[in-house]
Amino acid sequence: MSFPFQRDSPQLQRERMVRTQLADRGIRDLRVLDAMRKVPRHEFVPESFRQDAYEDHPLPIGEGQTISQPYIVAAMLKHLALQANERILEIGTGSGYVTALLSLLCAEVYSVERHAQLAASAESTLHRLEYRNVKIRVGDGGQGWAEYAPFDAILVSAATPEMPPALFAQLRDGGRMIVPVGPPSIQELQLIYKVSGRPEVKILEGCRFVPLVEGAVDSG
Ligand code: SAH
Repeated sequence: MSFPFQRDSPQLQRERMVRTQLADRGIRDLRVLDAMRKVPRHEFVPESFRQDAYEDHPLPIGEGQTISQPYIVAAMLKHLALQANERILEIGTGSGYVTALLSLLCAEVYSVERHAQLAASAESTLHRLEYRNVKIRVGDGGQGWAEYAPFDAILVSAATPEMPPALFAQLRDGGRMIVPVGPPSIQELQLIYKVSGRPEVKILEGCRFVPLVEGAVDSG
């Protein structure tokens, strides 16, 4: 028996999120749906927003940043079609939520965040939840992470007026990058393949991300 003031378990809330926000809106990729069913999104949001963790919108995570809406995360992951043996670069670790999903979907995850405090908090959450195949660095993600390049895929979680050339350079030939391109107010998601060293761009749906800002910061 349940009382009106009792919430469903996080597991049940996740099941419902996957069904109503993702599957019913056309996300069919079983690996993506399975990962979204597993990762405890509520562990990646601040205590004060926990009750909204599985709602259909982004939430504040501090430093003026947000954890992305579940649907746009699933859409980006679906378009990347990651394989279990691949290495991925993520730009904009934020809460570490997408990092955790990537950790389940591929072999190695490298993630760059410009806010030292967000990076530290994401790192500790990921460690506590035992996502082990992940490395996080504080820095300017627009420069990528040359030391571990080339990557099979790159996921950029912040909006940029143009696709950053340094990131494209760190993609292996035949690899792909997903990135929100456009002004701060509204962007389009672009899926960019590297074919014989050249970009082939596929324009996907509209989206809205916080901006990719140059340079790293030590604290907010
Ligand atoms: N995937 C994250 C999204 C966080 S929002 C999540 O779901 O929690 C985007 C993040 O990109 C913010 O944390 C912001 O600080 C970071 N960011 C912005 N510009 C950046 C840059 N140049 N390099 C690295 N990270 C950047």
